[in-house]
Formats: sequence, C-alpha cells, structure tokens
Amino acid sequence: MLTLFNTLSRKKEEFHPIHKDYVGLYTCGPTVYFFAHIGNLRTYVFEDLLKRVLLFNKFKVKHVMNITDVGHLTSDADEGEDKMLKGAKREGKTVWEIAKFYEDAFMKDMEKLNMLMPDIKCKATDHVQDMIDLIKRLEDKGMTYIANGNVYYDIMKFPHYGVLARLNMEELRAGARIEIDEHKRNPHDFVLWFTKSKFENQEMKWPSKFGVGYPGWHIECSAMSMKYLGEHFDIHCGGIDHIPVHHTNEIAQSEGATGHKWVNYWMHGEFLVMDKGKMSKSSGEILTLNFVQSKGYDPLDYRYLCLNTHYRTPLTFSFESLDAARSAFRGLKNKIIEFRKNQDKHDKSSDANIIIIEKYNADFIEAINDDLNMPKALAVLWSVVRDKDLSDKEKLHLIFEFDKVFGLDLVNVAEETIEITKDIQELVDQRQEARKKKDFKKADELRELIKEKGYSVDDSKDGIKVKKI
Ligand code: AMP
Ligand code: ZN
Repeated sequence: MLTLFNTLSRKKEEFHPIHKDYVGLYTCGPTVYFFAHIGNLRTYVFEDLLKRVLLFNKFKVKHVMNITDVGHLTSDADEGEDKMLKGAKREGKTVWEIAKFYEDAFMKDMEKLNMLMPDIKCKATDHVQDMIDLIKRLEDKGMTYIANGNVYYDIMKFPHYGVLARLNMEELRAGARIEIDEHKRNPHDFVLWFTKSKFENQEMKWPSKFGVGYPGWHIECSAMSMKYLGEHFDIHCGGIDHIPVHHTNEIAQSEGATGHKWVNYWMHGEFLVMDKGKMSKSSGEILTLNFVQSKGYDPLDYRYLCLNTHYRTPLTFSFESLDAARSAFRGLKNKIIEFRKNQDKHDKSSDANIIIIEKYNADFIEAINDDLNMPKALAVLWSVVRDKDLSDKEKLHLIFEFDKVFGLDLVNVAEETIEITKDIQELVDQRQEARKKKDFKKADELRELIKEKGYSVDDSKDGIKVKKI
C-alpha cells in the first residue's frame, strides 16, 4: 500500500487514484528566464521519484508539466519585475528568445539527471485563451474585480481561501489594513490579468475582453492542469515555497470556478539550502548543473546526493557532501562492474535465495511506499550489494529492479568507472580551475602529472572523464 504525505491534511495518507486507469499528476514547471539552479532541480528530482514510485506500483501516470514563459513576477505575489523581461534585459534578447533558450537548457538538465519526461509539457503562452476563459468563469461568479485596469481575484469571495497554508481568514481580513498595492481590496488578492501595471516594455500581450494584456502566473497552472487532467485530479506538486501563495491561489481559482474539490493530494519538496541560506534564482547567486559538471561531477552524482535525504527534509548543499555522494555512487558502480564480470564465473543462485530476494523486495517496496523513503530504500540496495548469500546475478537483478525507482541509470554503467583517490581528484579539480582561467599551460602540466600517476583525463561534452591508463 502506497502512502504519501498530503500537505492538505499534514498527514501521511493511503494513496487511492480517482480513475482506475491512470493517475493524474501535475508538477509546476520552471520559469524559463534563467538556468534552473540545483535547488529547483532537487524539487524536480523529488517529483521524478514520485512518478517512478507510482509506476513501480503499476499505476499508469499522466504527467503534465507547465513551462512558465509569461506572467511570473520576481515576487510570487504581484510585486517586482516580470522575470522574463528581467532575463531579456540581462542578455539583450527578446523574451521569446530567452524562453526558448532556457526551456531547452532545462530539458537538457532533466535528461542529464535521467528524469522521465512529462507526457504533456505545456507552455503558458500557448494557453492564454484557456486562462482568459477561466477568468471569465470567475468573473461570472462574481469572484473578481477590476482596479486600475487589472483583473483581481477577490479572496473574500472564496470561503476556503488559505486552507492549504492554514492561513487564518480572520487574520487575512485584518491584514487588509496594511495594503501594499493600493488597488487591492486585500493584500492577498492577486492579479488574474494585467492590462496596466507592470506593463513597461511588455512584449508578450494578448487581446481579451478585459483589454490587451497578459495573464498572472497563478492562473496558468489552474487553466492548463484542468485542461489536460480534468477538473478533479490526483496529485499536484511543487517546492514548499509554493504552499502559501502560488498553490493557495491556484486552489482559490480552480475551486472557485468549479465549485468543487480540485486536487486530492498536494505534495511539496523541502528546499536545498546553501551553508549561507536559501538559494534563489533572483538573488543572482546560484549553482547550476552545468557549473557542477564543470567541476568534474557527473550530474547523477547530484541525483545520488538527493536520494540520501528524504524529500521533506531540508538538504544543506556543500561540495564535501557532493564528494561523499560521488564516492559512494562510484563505489556502487564499481560493484556493478565486478558483479557483471563474475556473474557467470561463480553462479551460486539457489532456490533458498528466493526467500532472501523476496525479503529485499518487500523491504524496498515498504521503504518507497512509505512516503518515498529513499534513504531507507538506498540502505536496502546497499544490503543487497553486501549480501553474503546471493549470487552476483541475483544481486544485479535486484539492483536493476530497484534502479527503476532510483533512476541512477545503473544498467548502463560503463566499464571505465573507477574509484579516484583524493589526490588525483584534487589534481583534476586544479586542472579544471586552470582551464576556466584559460591557463592552458598549467592545465597541460596538470594533465601530464595526472598521467604520470596512471590516469587520463578527457573533456567530453558530458563532463570530464577520468580513466585508468
Ligand atoms: P521556479 O522556476 O522559480 O518557478 O521554481 C521551480 C521549482 O523549484 C518550484 O517547484 C520551486 O518551489 C522549487 N524551488 C525553488 N527554490 C528551491 C530550492 N532552493 N530548493 C528546492 N526547490 C526549490
Ligand atoms: Zn504552478
């Protein structure tokens, strides 16, 4: 039985899908104005693990992910600059060029991290009419008002506003006295359609009955998820920062328009934090997957790191912890190579082992079905690796089966995976630094030194490959 922690109830609940034949899963996608940072990617890894656990449980999954290419301001409420415009100004390109470039970059990151692709990937700019239609429905129900040309959602018209975040309606009412946007009746009201404010240099705009304008960020997820998954679906995910504003507002829009429950299970991933605190794209200090790769790590080292911490626990990132993850992951890959070599040599598979195998399978399923307890599932994997009774063939079979959930691409582990000692790794890192500073002379000297110690370094497009000569 699969149990998942539902943010709505703040409890683990048994999972039962609405439809027999599929699970409807909506994951809030990236705002494509810059590279995703590894914090964002932690959330996408968590969502990928969820999807893989559902598939492992033999559910079919209909996964929809949006691409936000319009309407997201630098604050999740309606404050600040348009993120897409910010990207366009930074790079001297059009917002459309920015959106295309960073969407492609994001898809590459997903591939590098061995994530399963969504069944439907939908861009906000391709669905503006759906958003306008949804705003009209809300307008017909009297849940909107127009101020300064913008269409606002009136949260006081939705009695359940804030249930997800456990906001107190009385406090919200009182909060009305500390207005930020003078056009809002309540500070928690939010824009559904912009026609006046935040309009300077706005390139993306569409005609509508409310005037030429563009949609707010929250309406896109309500409109697109309902278009593809229906007005009542199973699971909606994102990072924990989405609980108080984005997802709260999505619920207000969708349930306000339909008059009934929208999503059964809300799931949220905890943040990846730096030693210094939260990592955010807008603060400018971000670590991308490309940067991590340029330091000589395999993207899957990062995936392995994510598996080590439960998705509802904050993960403090440091290169030391990534080193430890890389080392453990390399150890695992080397074991696979060893098992592969030996599997036919001394095959001691036996019927007695069936019971052991069943126990490992049961422990694994228990771990993943307990709200995706990956650290525990990883411990089961390591017990299999170290088991004294199982044959190498039996071990490989179990490992590859478990990897359908971990997604570490273990079936494709190549022969050249090697354990590199700390001093070689340091030389490889120094060489990388030298290359970055365009000090190719030093980089070549370091390559020679690494060679003298018995290793070769290759700079492929997938990162640096170190091999034993
Ligand atoms: P954005 O592109 O800003 O809309 O964010 C994409 C996803 O990353 C959302 O689900 C966010 O909740 C999530 N997110 C943002 N920052 C972090 C972080 N530091 N750690 C984990 N997830 C994050
Ligand atoms: Zn969303």
